[in-house]
Amino acid sequence: MIMKTIGVLTSGGDAPGMNAAIRAVTRTALSKGMNVKGIAKGFNGLLEGNIRDFDMRSVSNIVERGGTILYTARCPAFVPIEGVRKGVKTCEEVGIEGIVVIGGDGSFRGARDLSNEGIPCIGVPATIDNDIGSTGYTIGFDTAINTGMELIDKLRDTAQSHDRCSVVEVMGRRAGDIALHTGIACGATSILTMETSEYYTVEHAIERILKTKTGNKHHFIVVVSEGYTAGKYTDANQIAKQIQDATGVETRATILGHVQRGGTPTVHDRVAASRLGHRAAELLSQGMGNRVVGFSKNAIFDYEINEALEMPKVFNKELFQVAETISF
Ligand code: ADP
Repeated sequence: MIMKTIGVLTSGGDAPGMNAAIRAVTRTALSKGMNVKGIAKGFNGLLEGNIRDFDMRSVSNIVERGGTILYTARCPAFVPIEGVRKGVKTCEEVGIEGIVVIGGDGSFRGARDLSNEGIPCIGVPATIDNDIGSTGYTIGFDTAINTGMELIDKLRDTAQSHDRCSVVEVMGRRAGDIALHTGIACGATSILTMETSEYYTVEHAIERILKTKTGNKHHFIVVVSEGYTAGKYTDANQIAKQIQDATGVETRATILGHVQRGGTPTVHDRVAASRLGHRAAELLSQGMGNRVVGFSKNAIFDYEINEALEMPKVFNKELFQVAETISF
């Protein structure tokens, strides 16, 4: 039996392109004859009944906006089964029969639990970190790396003018994808990520700087992933000090932080979000649930949520090697 009404929510950390996904889910569902309700502040909206009806125009003028019109939140009360059951009760009261959950792998766990309790959910991967094993791409990554690139380019100008070394910490949680991509795009001398931390350490970066210094290069960019810093250091300032002490090059640290999460989504993110959101609503309209959508190469796939959660995230070591070779 076709679902009459579905809900859509954004959960966990925000990512540019979430709005484009909300729009795609809403318009696809409406085009298939289903009603749509927007659930505010992630799973909190289900616990608090913070839910409103969406029509075609509710999602007008949002495709180009960063952040999420539905707001997003972490909701610890939704982790225990009692929280999930309360969410199910709200769905029954307002007539929601299925939900598209836009977020990261934490949010997918909530979606799985809701599915198991009788509300079929489809997960749409959205996080700037690109850290989900079941998909080659997550909504928000392209915008975040472009923002990171612009900021590091600006740091390079001043590093060059002063013959300095600039240590830049980028986001990514445990994943080094943001560091790898911005590092290559900005010609970083070294890229430090958790995935490669066995060999590519601060000491290794120092060696590279000392080696290049004897040539005609006097300014350096070192891009550090959040995951690398979290493993061994309190923050990037410590890394900067270590480099300065060992090389004699004046070194400053910059932690880019949340600025990487904002901004107008790129074409790539708007298109990815539109495709994934469309597919998610389509799956619900076919009565499917407990699945996540994602990309493999450029094609859209869907997997059962538990199967997806078990897929390991693969780091692109080949791309890392390219960076190592050409960044001298
Ligand atoms: P992300 O979705 O970006 O990975 P989080 O890990 O913070 O972000 O998860 C977002 C929300 O998903 C949590 O606040 C919680 O409501 C829900 N969630 C996370 N883990 C679980 C879990 N194991 N079981 C049920 N819900 C969960």
